[in-house]
Amino acid sequence: MNDKLSITDLSLKGKRVLVRVDFNVPLDKNQKITDDTRISFSLHTIKYILENGGSVVLMSHLGRPKGKADSALSLAPCAKRLSQLLGIDVKMAPDCVGPQVEALAKALQPGEVLLLENLRFHAAEEKPTEDPNFARQLASLGDVYVDDAFGTAHRAHASTVAVPHLFPGRAAAGFLLEKEIQFLGQELSDPDRPFYAILGGAKISSKLGVIKALLHQVDALFIGGGMTYTFFKAQGIEIGDSIYEEDLLEEAKEILSLAQQKNVQVFLPIDTVVTERMEDTSSIQVVNVPQPFPPGTGGVDIGPRTIDLYSAELAKAALIFWNGPLGVFEVPAFAQGTRAIAKRITQLDATTIVGGGDSVAALQSLGYADRVTHLSTGGGAALEYIEYGKLPGIEALSDSSG
Ligand code: AMP
Repeated sequence: MNDKLSITDLSLKGKRVLVRVDFNVPLDKNQKITDDTRISFSLHTIKYILENGGSVVLMSHLGRPKGKADSALSLAPCAKRLSQLLGIDVKMAPDCVGPQVEALAKALQPGEVLLLENLRFHAAEEKPTEDPNFARQLASLGDVYVDDAFGTAHRAHASTVAVPHLFPGRAAAGFLLEKEIQFLGQELSDPDRPFYAILGGAKISSKLGVIKALLHQVDALFIGGGMTYTFFKAQGIEIGDSIYEEDLLEEAKEILSLAQQKNVQVFLPIDTVVTERMEDTSSIQVVNVPQPFPPGTGGVDIGPRTIDLYSAELAKAALIFWNGPLGVFEVPAFAQGTRAIAKRITQLDATTIVGGGDSVAALQSLGYADRVTHLSTGGGAALEYIEYGKLPGIEALSDSSG
């Protein structure tokens, strides 16, 4: 299914390679980068180009400047950090298009790296059809195109869709994007079996498309997190003050009956940790399902019996996909379920794929991020890729001649 051109298919010697990266890093008040994971993830692709005789023109967005230049959202701190990581001077462009930038790109020698200023300083990045000239200007800065920004591959922006269309036969996936295609695209659509999915997070509503798509693929589904309580409520269980979605009660029932039709086993927690207040852990209790939750308490984590049950069942899996923490993992007392299941899956022989927003943050904060087979770099992109099986930024790349 990986029918897209790879960076390894491109001839790079003497070429200026225009690379869409995801340098949308968190910054503090003083514009200091607080986490450079995204920059370090791009090193493989950048080094590969340099080692193969090319020069690199990097483009990215940072934050939401809404089409206007905003010095607080300059990519200059990223150029500095990248210089340190590569051990060479990375040039910082004053803008991402215009004569000055064109001159800088033209002067670039093999082995050199230029970082363009924030793409979203121009409204045309997010609305490419309103000013097609913007994409043309960007495209003029390179001889070939590489996309390594999976986090924005679900957006049909200038740098992710309009620009690669201007490189027919020369628009390829970088190493990071290829890995996402391999695991989220190929592995999940043609899975090793048994294939189990763990789904948590706050709500059913934000995951509805993914849940339904997964129901067509998985052998079993393990539910945790805040979405549990909508399922419980739909089954008539008294859930106290737990979060739930009133308008999704019918949907929750439908998910369960669809699963039954498809012969997909759905595991719901058999016990749950409840508390009166998030900040006060002295009121923690464990409720066995389907006992009513004590009045004034809400569910915040899966309970110990659920951890044991899920751990035992997950051991049978050949492939596991996990999205969404199983409790309020930000509070250490309520991170136990997420931690125990993270630990468990990293002990298995199964292929383990974790993707989508907070599940990645949860695994990082609990120290299991580098022990899974694949940790997706895209939040919304990962979920949309699973739901639709394709993304605009991937579709826009050249087909490999195969
Ligand atoms: P999501 O972005 O949908 O994956 O949701 C992640 C958020 O869900 C995290 O901030 C968790 O704290 C939150 N969450 C997980 N379990 C619960 C729960 N039982 N009650 C409230 N929030 C929860």
